[in-house]
Amino acid sequence: MSSHPTPGVLEVITGPMFSGKSEELIRRLKRARIARQRVACFKPDIDLRYHRTAIASHSSQTHEAITVANVERLREALYPQLDSIEVVGVDEVQFFDPGIIPLAVELIALGKRVIMAGLDTTFAAEPFGPVPNLMAISDTVTKLSAVCMVCGASAIHTQRLGQSQELVVVGAAGLYEARCRMHFHPFLDEHASEQLELAAVLESPGTN
Ligand SMILES: [Zn+2]
Repeated sequence: MSSHPTPGVLEVITGPMFSGKSEELIRRLKRARIARQRVACFKPDIDLRYHRTAIASHSSQTHEAITVANVERLREALYPQLDSIEVVGVDEVQFFDPGIIPLAVELIALGKRVIMAGLDTTFAAEPFGPVPNLMAISDTVTKLSAVCMVCGASAIHTQRLGQSQELVVVGAAGLYEARCRMHFHPFLDEHASEQLELAAVLESPGTN
């Protein structure tokens, strides 16, 4: 490699839960591997879904990933092997601290292709962690939508159904649903069971 590498790129893949973000990240990493590029993939320690050493999509696609507690640990894992790495993937990037932003800038300057996937908004529809900033400095943003579990329309929101006060309980099946703007109700947690029943009624054909 030249001592003056050409700048890399940052690709952000975002959208609500169940929109296929991890699947799209895995697809891009696999394509890079087929092109004989060397790939390193990371995810935060918080994701207990399916595997501790792989990223997984809801459609059961997986890709090897190194689980790290924070951005500092990510740096420690990545930098010793950085010269031999061409593509850096990060999944569930919304859970990383703001240090992920300067790290992305550094990697771009070193000529790396950086692909980061994560939620753009919380269950309260607020911008999620470093993702908005990453979108702002990225070369491309792929904003995916899911399918509203009430009406089948395109969904940009993650609806929390349970009572958890955590920002997102990753992979907690049944606690979250994708919802369109019309069926997104961020602050109805105390009526979660009624909501579930309502959703079941509304899901029957011919309504809405
Ligand atoms: Zn809907």
